[in-house]
Amino acid sequence: MPTIAAPASTSSKRLALSALAPGTVQSEIRAMSVACEQMGGINLAQGVCDTPVPPPVEEAAIKAIRDGHNIYTRLDGIGRLRTAIAAKQKRDYGLEYDPETEVLVASGATGGLHAACMALLNPGDEVILFEPFYGYHTATLRSLRMNPVLVPLDAPDWILVADRLRKAVTAKTRAIVVNTPANPSGKIFTRAELEAVAEVCLEHDLFLFTDEIYEYFVYDGAQHISAATLPGMRERTIVISGFSKTFSVTGWRLGYVTADKKWMGAMSYFHDLTYVCAPSAFQHGAAAGLEQLPQSFYTELATAHQDKRARILAALTDAGLTPSTPAGAYYVLADASKLQGTTSAEKARNLLAATGVASVAGSAFFRSGGGENLLRFCFAKIDDDLNEACARLRKL
Ligand code: PLP
Repeated sequence: MPTIAAPASTSSKRLALSALAPGTVQSEIRAMSVACEQMGGINLAQGVCDTPVPPPVEEAAIKAIRDGHNIYTRLDGIGRLRTAIAAKQKRDYGLEYDPETEVLVASGATGGLHAACMALLNPGDEVILFEPFYGYHTATLRSLRMNPVLVPLDAPDWILVADRLRKAVTAKTRAIVVNTPANPSGKIFTRAELEAVAEVCLEHDLFLFTDEIYEYFVYDGAQHISAATLPGMRERTIVISGFSKTFSVTGWRLGYVTADKKWMGAMSYFHDLTYVCAPSAFQHGAAAGLEQLPQSFYTELATAHQDKRARILAALTDAGLTPSTPAGAYYVLADASKLQGTTSAEKARNLLAATGVASVAGSAFFRSGGGENLLRFCFAKIDDDLNEACARLRKL
């Protein structure tokens, strides 16, 4: 995996990397995955989600390839999938989106966020995110020369302090990003918290970008609330989600954005410019999943992951890596104080060397100096691998 470094021997000022490039490094998450593969370890680092693909999804994608759906689609995706996404938003949240003008099938939630930032924000704009944050959110913004402003949530339950949010708003603020259920904390924003965020958005005329990719990964009866449903918020909320996690197809690069038609044209244009369209055959797979999978599929997904959560929590507790219990998503943050190393990156590498289990350094999710005593473990693994990882952790 190449890392980007300034070339050593070039005298030309033109034959040079961009101003941003020398500051970029491979994400700690990917770096740990590479280190894990090199030593044949069990990867609880990256949220790759290697649980099986639901059969209707898999079969429809294969059939689509055989049926010749291998060419560019409309820039905002095939009609069948846009219709299915609109129906899903109505079914799950009562949100009405016109599949012709208000749904963008994106190249992953990641591609959706990129297109939304290109379409709606300008270089120099400030965007508020909550800390701990998902690194792609901050990195995407920086890559587009926008400025992430971090508002810390209060551990251990990652509570939102509304006053702190208000104080972070400046004349340059254009948007707030809410990821619920959240990576890495597993936090599920409560209605009251989302109302506090909405109030700030309405008061200061801000966009709200919601990353809802873990919408079905909710535990202990918790409920995911889509912030676009709050009064006055539909117009300004850019809902971003996808199929990577729900259908275990992280490599298919398939997500979506639903938003008011005022914003959708520009978002679709910028998505087209970078990705042209989301992978066409896979769009048919996702459409079949949305059309055919019963409601029980989604509840069973949550139940299965709640069970996996219980196993990893018990193993981490036994290993002396005290975990905090996530309310949603599929990651656990655990206290790494007992591991050797001065930084969480060193601790993660020492844990990998000692047990063959890869985790991610907590520092990947906090501003510089934060998260150094935390490690993040992903539990969206097939049972054999998760059980083996738990057994290895217990031997620590
Ligand atoms: N958003 C969050 C919060 C994630 O944790 C991830 C993957 O880990 C993604 C988005 C990536 O989504 P996609 O694969 O649809 O680009």
